[in-house]
Amino acid sequence: MTERLDCAVIGGGVVGLAIARRLALSGRQVVLFEAEKRTGQHASSRNSEVMHAGIYYPSGTLKARLCVAGRRMLASYCGEHGIPCRRVGKLVVAVTEDEIAQLEQHKAHGEANGVDDLAWLDREQVRALEPAVTCARALSSPSTGLVDSHGLMQALAADARRAGADIVLASPVVSGEVADDGIDLDIGGREPGRFRFRTVVNSAGFGAPAVARSLRGLPTETIPTPYFARGHYFTVSGPSPFRRLIYPVPGKDGLGIHVALDLGGNLRFGPDVCFTSFPDYEFDESRAAHFYGAIRCYYPGLAEGALAPGFVGVRSKLAPEGSGFVDFVLQGSEAHKVPGLLNLFGIDSPGLTSCLALAEEAGRRLE
Ligand SMILES: Cc1cc2nc3c(=O)[nH]c(=O)nc-3n(C[C@H](O)[C@H](O)[C@H](O)COP(=O)(O)OP(=O)(O)OC[C@H]3O[C@@H](n4cnc5c(N)ncnc54)[C@H](O)[C@@H]3O)c2cc1C
Repeated sequence: MTERLDCAVIGGGVVGLAIARRLALSGRQVVLFEAEKRTGQHASSRNSEVMHAGIYYPSGTLKARLCVAGRRMLASYCGEHGIPCRRVGKLVVAVTEDEIAQLEQHKAHGEANGVDDLAWLDREQVRALEPAVTCARALSSPSTGLVDSHGLMQALAADARRAGADIVLASPVVSGEVADDGIDLDIGGREPGRFRFRTVVNSAGFGAPAVARSLRGLPTETIPTPYFARGHYFTVSGPSPFRRLIYPVPGKDGLGIHVALDLGGNLRFGPDVCFTSFPDYEFDESRAAHFYGAIRCYYPGLAEGALAPGFVGVRSKLAPEGSGFVDFVLQGSEAHKVPGLLNLFGIDSPGLTSCLALAEEAGRRLE
């Protein structure tokens, strides 16, 4: 008979680590299985590192609630653990008069979500703050910030380990099976084996639908079709002409190609949205033409030849291109009828900002 252990978390990205920490701190015995040799090699280290305020998401959605709560939790956590983070602030810029109506909608959403510091800036006020930016009007979000995602993941892992969690690297969950008194997981890698768990949290990022599909006994009709959206970042060398994050008015599939500063003040632009049938990190340099066009709408001073290839991140999506807003999905036994299994699907942006709130939500649902 397979020995029954308490709790498995599948995936050592920022969300899986935050969940492992939360469960371990509440007294659960946790084993986190990570397929790679190191934690945080996928979306959690290939993103804009922005602590979003919570402006864009329709109120009442998980993204709205967990982003707003998560940013506050994350700011306190970073302060307590000495993790670099800074409220650099952000301007969302309407380049044309037509875009102002869309910005008004975002302001209303943000305020309904509890973001209480949004302010309008006119053309001259923007010029005074960010002389390189051209726009008709801007929405200022002073509480938007940046966080060191690597420092954050290290702190979450250290907390989880101190609370007794095992973080097992190079150990992919390759399949599994729903049993009468738990869920069996087959672990690959160097020390393969089968273990039975009372609770399983599937937090495998864009791999979460594939992990779910590999669990025999889980109704397949409850597993969403995965979609993948690659996002390129281009870098610009030299001092940044911007002090704040500068975002265009968002499109249907993403927040738009924005000024993505890092905590060292280095300048990069991105991400674009390229839906793909297979997640990979190959950099498509031909995207540069699109980047120059999009960036020059609000930063006409971008010199020809200034953009250099940076990196690619892959977003986990639950709907095809052009579908618009799709919420995070935390799927428990009410949907799939398997006691003890929680699937996290579609944890794209603002998953980094929301990681501690997602962990709290997951912990609450498993109690
Ligand atoms: C381009 C881009 C920009 C973004 N910008 C922001 C931003 O500025 N602010 C923000 O809040 N959010 C942002 N996000 C979203 C944020 O990065 C993600 O929501 C977050 O990192 C998701 O974390 P995760 O742990 O769910 O996934 P991941 O970090 O992808 O981790 C999943 C882990 O599961 C592991 N895994 C997969 N399959 C298995 C298996 N079978 N067995 C064991 N382990 C497995 C993987 O190796 C991986 O380590 C962005 C995302 C992208 C892609």
